[in-house]
Amino acid sequence: MSEVLTFIPQWQILIFSGLFGAAWGSFANVVIARWPLEMSVVRPGSHCFSCQAKVRPWDNIPVLSYFILRGKCRHCGASFSLRYVFVELLLALFSVAVMQRALALYPDAPGWLLGTWLIWFAFIWALVVVAMIDLACWLIPDSIVLPGIAVGVAANALGLLPLGWLEPVVAAGIAYAGLRLLFIDGYQLLTGKPGMGLGDAKLLALFGAFLGYEGTLFALFAGAFQGLVVGLGMVLFRRRKGLDNEPVFEEDLGEDGAPTEPTDDRLRKAKVPFGPFLAAGAIEYLFVGEALIAHYTKWVFYLTLRWFS
Ligand SMILES: [Zn+2]
Repeated sequence: MSEVLTFIPQWQILIFSGLFGAAWGSFANVVIARWPLEMSVVRPGSHCFSCQAKVRPWDNIPVLSYFILRGKCRHCGASFSLRYVFVELLLALFSVAVMQRALALYPDAPGWLLGTWLIWFAFIWALVVVAMIDLACWLIPDSIVLPGIAVGVAANALGLLPLGWLEPVVAAGIAYAGLRLLFIDGYQLLTGKPGMGLGDAKLLALFGAFLGYEGTLFALFAGAFQGLVVGLGMVLFRRRKGLDNEPVFEEDLGEDGAPTEPTDDRLRKAKVPFGPFLAAGAIEYLFVGEALIAHYTKWVFYLTLRWFS
């Protein structure tokens, strides 16, 4: 252990990373609420969307304030969405989890520890924001994904992440082009209907920049599988509601290529964008991907041996 890290007990480092994650979760909520409205994320300060009253700093403590105020505005009593506390808690947990990984990787090098923790947390922060915005309004913001691709490539090139400079660049390119050819242009050609959105292709390029070939493939398959399971659930749900002629995934695109929002409220509840599943796949790869792939490889190897012997 280095001098710095033996001086600070590990539990204090973990608590600090949890508070840091919750604070950035709070900012994530601001971005998620304002990006779709094209509002600045800095000005004006936090205010109630119902009565416009300013939220005082002591009413703006991540997680805690939500419970103290019971999820309601102090002035007008309007309810805040559970999403606020969910995003704050989620990012606090991810921050702690990534810190734990970084502590295991770099117990002796505080600089590397900080860098690794921050870069993985930034990646997860972006994924959570993108997933929540996609869920709410069916758009994947370029203003987060495109700079993210540059950050991922730079982090790998500088050695903060392990892939070097070539693999992230190639993986991002292949991911974008591959998804576009197969699931957007190819799908359109075969079925005459638009498939996924371009935002999904850019999101996959972001995975390429951070995770390389293996992680991007993993995220795509894990995301597709989870999307399929949820999609099937939706189909059953809709059949019961008599909505089974409507597509489950975001297929109705407007003239500008952006998905149009469903007007029927029941349908809105029964349709899901694909971005959140991809984002979940990428986060799963970060935490369990290598273990899962190793397990699966062993299993395939074992079956192959049995087959041939
Ligand atoms: Zn209010």
